[in-house]
Amino acid sequence: MTAPQTSTAARAVLEQVFGYPCFRGQQGEIIDCIAAGGDALVLMPTGGGKSLCYQIPALLREGVAIVVSPLIALMADQVAALRQQGVRAAALNSSLSIEERLEIGRALEAGELDLLYVAPERLLGGDLLQRLSGIRIALFAIDEAHCVSQWGHDFRPEYLQLDILGSRFPGVPRVALTATADERTREEIRQRLLPADARIFVSSFDRPNIRYEVGLKDRPREQLLRFIRERHAGESGIVYCMSRRATEQIADWLNTRDIPALAYHAGLEPALRRHHQSRFLREDGLVMVATVAFGMGIDKPDVRFVAHLDLPKTLEAYYQETGRAGRDGLPAEAWLVYGLQDIYRIRQMSSESQASAGHKRRERQRLEALLAFCETTQCRRPTLLAHFGEAYPERCGNCDNCQNPPRTWDAADPARRLLSCVYRTGQRFGAAHVIDVLLGENGERLRQRGHERLSTFGIGTDLPRATWQSITRQLLAHGYLEPDPEGHGGLRLAEACRPLLRGESGLSLREDLPSRRAQPRMRVA
Ligand code: ADP
Ligand code: ZN
Repeated sequence: MTAPQTSTAARAVLEQVFGYPCFRGQQGEIIDCIAAGGDALVLMPTGGGKSLCYQIPALLREGVAIVVSPLIALMADQVAALRQQGVRAAALNSSLSIEERLEIGRALEAGELDLLYVAPERLLGGDLLQRLSGIRIALFAIDEAHCVSQWGHDFRPEYLQLDILGSRFPGVPRVALTATADERTREEIRQRLLPADARIFVSSFDRPNIRYEVGLKDRPREQLLRFIRERHAGESGIVYCMSRRATEQIADWLNTRDIPALAYHAGLEPALRRHHQSRFLREDGLVMVATVAFGMGIDKPDVRFVAHLDLPKTLEAYYQETGRAGRDGLPAEAWLVYGLQDIYRIRQMSSESQASAGHKRRERQRLEALLAFCETTQCRRPTLLAHFGEAYPERCGNCDNCQNPPRTWDAADPARRLLSCVYRTGQRFGAAHVIDVLLGENGERLRQRGHERLSTFGIGTDLPRATWQSITRQLLAHGYLEPDPEGHGGLRLAEACRPLLRGESGLSLREDLPSRRAQPRMRVA
């Protein structure tokens, strides 16, 4: 147990330095633990208030707190904010002049700093560690600690070397903080950055003010435009796309439709990239159309929506990306559209990946989690939070499925017909061809292959093309179908469809909302 006076002192700092009346969530407990010299892993969603968890112990303990952060822009913001509150903080990074660096070194050795922010490569390279061993250190805070995970998308090799802090500075408390919370990353952080007896503080990852909506892709630009115009006119938002080119094209296109938008991707000139980022942070009502290069550490409180025009890589990535919306706690939306081709593409990427068997299995699990989230007919929150090991027993009332419960239908019989048509055509054609056969389309392409003589030719005329497309998409999403390994855009039966084909299991599918227009013919690949 921690001494009660620690809490009192912590509360005094909270009020006097930061001007807040009370702690949020587990902040008080975490601060007590670290202030008393304990080590901790802090898992808190973006906007949850992680910074105070090390800033207050930094002020309560003797010596300087070293904060390791990979984000130079964020460091600068934090240092500026702390200084305004009268805290003696500085950041060491590559953008400083030699004089500025010397001055920080002097202040450090004179004991005139409460917090020193530093990028990992700066802490580990050069002589900084050496100099630190001569002075009193209050604690080490390792921010964005998930960067230590080799499987994550933000992996930074320097983070692996931070393990030497334990042996070089025994007795100095370490706190690792992240908003990334899947079980595996959590375990990696604990093993690599913390002593075995570190306490783990897990906050709820629910973001109740974010409304989730997942829809079917059908002319995505128009859908995006409608979404912004009808629900977020004049507001700030982020649109994520897969390709660099798409970000530029869509930003241009939005601009021609009177929606001020900027592009952001890793291929832009660094100066332009910084310029776009700072405009987005400063101005109101700008839409940033970006690849995933945009985001980590973006602390703009009033982002009202995050839209995805392509499926994110994992559910974890989706959570992080959408988590940039609504940091001010006001209503915000996470909006995603996807289609058969998106599922096909990511399923194909995962089967082609050269990774080890174990890694592939995990990749596969991550993919299944993402697809389950997209295709669920239930409240989206339990699916999302289950991924972080968190139970969410109710319906949230703030997602598309809660607000407009999708209907399901017994699709076992049509699904069997579709699967056998995939089989009869040789398991190498794409969705469009298979559906042509089901619908008995008498085209040249079919006749060339003799497919008009198949037993499955024309057995699906009772259902419209859109329904067959919906069935195909869901069979692919649920893993009954898979991309053919040749990579020609074909579909083949997956192991999972056997019980269904044998009549041993049924299948209930989501009834897709009819699109306002006839659907264009969808061709995979
Ligand atoms: P994180 O790093 O977890 O994303 P921050 O530490 O940046 O979150 O905090 C998010 C916002 O919440 C900041 O504006 C911060 O000032 C505010 N905040 C944090 N703790 C409290 C608190 N106890 N009371 C009021 N506001 C808080
Ligand atoms: Zn819900």
